[in-house]
Amino acid sequence: MVKKMDDLKIIDAHSHIWSKEFDEDRTRIIEDSIRNNVHSIIEVGCDLGSSIKALELSKQHPFIFSVAGLHPHDANKFQKEKNDLFQLASSNPFVAIGEIGLDFYRMHSDKESQRIAFTQQLDLAVELNLPIVIHSRDAAEETLEIIKQWKQRAGEYLGQQSPVGMMHCFSGNFALALEYANLGFMISIPGTITYPKNLILKEVVSKIPVNKLLIETDTPYLTPVPHRGKRNETSFINYTLEEIAGIKNTAKNKIAKVIYDNTISFFKLVI
Ligand SMILES: [Zn+2]
Repeated sequence: MVKKMDDLKIIDAHSHIWSKEFDEDRTRIIEDSIRNNVHSIIEVGCDLGSSIKALELSKQHPFIFSVAGLHPHDANKFQKEKNDLFQLASSNPFVAIGEIGLDFYRMHSDKESQRIAFTQQLDLAVELNLPIVIHSRDAAEETLEIIKQWKQRAGEYLGQQSPVGMMHCFSGNFALALEYANLGFMISIPGTITYPKNLILKEVVSKIPVNKLLIETDTPYLTPVPHRGKRNETSFINYTLEEIAGIKNTAKNKIAKVIYDNTISFFKLVI
């Protein structure tokens, strides 16, 4: 396990500790992460039920914050869950709306349902004055198009300087990262940055200004090297940070501090 460094603080900007993969050892996973430089965790819902679970975790632990939303995989149940989900989101201290977006890779829900769920949740975020967490897979063009139209409707709803959203598990090239950065998005880097063949993401990290970066696990998925292939755990985020520090040729604690501050101001966390 990675050694604890006293001056190193990491926030996992996207995690799903609520998921059933952690039913046996959820407390151990959370305690392990705290012992290994993780100062705070953002728990992200994927539907009504998991948004409630994420909220519960944030009530149990002062260092966990929660995000409510319906994942594109579950867009076909949007009409059924919409009222309860919007009610939940508007009456509890969530720090963002997500994860929302488009996934044309797995196609668990049809494209039209995905577009409707995505668009209406984007508008909910404006109504609640919260940033958004975007999931986009094999749908780069359509996601960008919807975001651009939404940005025009939304105006500068979070204030002129505030980022409006984060591209969770960013997997595009540098040109796309730059386009999103210019639209007011943070680029969130998962454990896949440690995969030797992931040269496109390594290029993104090397070229994008560090003040646009967030770091995440997406537990239980996207496990970094050297644990690739196993269930991801929050404390493994240290490997992701190490890789980013190496690519940026910057000391680990120095880059951690900038990304930590980025995360605090993006989610407006009060820690
Ligand atoms: Zn996720």
